Amino acid sequence: MNNRSALVVLSGGQDSTTCLFWAKHHFKNVCAISYRYGQHHEQEVQIAQAICAEHGVPFTALDVPLIGTLGSNSLTDSTIPMDAEKPADGLPNTFVPGRNLFFLAIAAVYAREHGVFDLVTGVGQTDYSGYPDCRDAFIRSLNVTLNLAMDEQFRIHTPLMWLDKAGVWALADELGVFDVVRERTLTCYRGIPGDGCGECPACKLRRDGLQKYLATRNH
Ligand code: ZN
Repeated sequence: MNNRSALVVLSGGQDSTTCLFWAKHHFKNVCAISYRYGQHHEQEVQIAQAICAEHGVPFTALDVPLIGTLGSNSLTDSTIPMDAEKPADGLPNTFVPGRNLFFLAIAAVYAREHGVFDLVTGVGQTDYSGYPDCRDAFIRSLNVTLNLAMDEQFRIHTPLMWLDKAGVWALADELGVFDVVRERTLTCYRGIPGDGCGECPACKLRRDGLQKYLATRNH
């Protein structure tokens, strides 16, 4: 635990919610920010808000619909059928171009206004969906850019960067929030909380990780 404050970029999903509790464990003060960017399932913002309310975390939601419409993607445009798998020749159409760039840049400005310079994000590149803005090189580069942009010393924390999905479940368990993360969060692309629809790519990734973790948990 240190005396600093941290701002968590929270989507209401498994990864960022685990990061919220990681931040509560490591920082004296924690607040969270969510974005409405035109995603089909804006209930994820309500879920994020409810989890924060239950755990005493100040919460802000910002409307940034431009981010969802600027680059075409199947998460915000319901006329595009969602890729079930990552195509061999490129990114899945669930990739929202620039999303983490915008989210973190906005978070940094918001945090700075509140005297906060530690940002926490749930991105990771071990079991990731092929999104380039989840990779460590991007985060390190952006951290430098944010510092130069505002002449500050931000620290972007990525506690999940090198964990696979089973490792993320293990971390939630270590933090004592396994059930909260399993039952309350929304990962499913079809908008079903908890264990979800079980079939979409996000549910598959989540379930495979959960099964792998549960297989080791009881030993
Ligand atoms: Zn699903």
